Amino acid sequence: MTTTIIQPGEIEKLAGEIPFVYIPSRNGIFHDRAGRLRTLAHDHSMKDFLIFMANLCEAQQAALNDFPDVPLPQETQLKLCRAHGMPPLSVQSWQRDPAWQQALRKIADRVQQHATPASKETIARLQHMDSAALEMLAGAILSGRYEDIDLAAAPFVAAALQVYWTHMTTTLGVRAFGRNDISNLCPACASAPVASVVRIGGGEQGLRYLSCSLCETQWHMVRVKCSNCESTKDIGYYSIEGSSGAVKAESCDECGTYLKIAYMDKDPHVDPVADDLATLALDLMMDNSGKSRSGPNLFLMTASDPAA
Ligand code: FE
Ligand code: FE
Repeated sequence: MTTTIIQPGEIEKLAGEIPFVYIPSRNGIFHDRAGRLRTLAHDHSMKDFLIFMANLCEAQQAALNDFPDVPLPQETQLKLCRAHGMPPLSVQSWQRDPAWQQALRKIADRVQQHATPASKETIARLQHMDSAALEMLAGAILSGRYEDIDLAAAPFVAAALQVYWTHMTTTLGVRAFGRNDISNLCPACASAPVASVVRIGGGEQGLRYLSCSLCETQWHMVRVKCSNCESTKDIGYYSIEGSSGAVKAESCDECGTYLKIAYMDKDPHVDPVADDLATLALDLMMDNSGKSRSGPNLFLMTASDPAA
């Protein structure tokens, strides 16, 4: 008699066809994030920061709503990428359209109304940068070279790049993207995930998706597996004492990293970026235990970011 041992994740596979890619609705993605940030800001020790981020997300939604048409990969290219497990909008090779800089100016103008004097200064600096300087800044952010950039200006640039890439992924739709050869990077743009989300509803019920730090694409990865090195051994889950448990740090002893995981069954409104920003205490706790983050939050770049 042959005994088959079911490996972690295979139970999910047996459950039938799994939607590999999930892309949130273009109409509300950043608006919903702003709402989540405002909710999380109530009685939060970092209230002002979270409200500022909410304003930034609202500005992102406005920029996305009237983003102009830009060149996109043709179907033949997309087909080739799907066949070879390559992300068609890779941050390393995709030729950026300067339209993202228009989005940056719109975002900066809008955020300025509610900005602190320090942020106003940063925005003024950005508004004086020429196109080449902005492209250099964008290139450094997208390749994780945070040491030699203006870190105060970086979140605004990242916000505009998120809008540009989200415009492309939401225009192309889920069918454009296949499985990436490197399963811990985004199948659309090859960026690392900001966090993962255990989703509810429809075909995604109970499934874990990694959420791209740049383009909002979410892609399936089985649970209880390190999203960085794919080890299934010694995976631990940590949360702040007294929290709802909707956000935990999934940590791996094998590669010494962690990434947060948000559970929609504990709170249906969790958002990978917003909930990550509101749980910095968990990052401090993980940092103190010697673990480093495996993926960045582009609103929180630091010169020593381990994702760099
Ligand atoms: Fe992506
Ligand atoms: Fe690992």
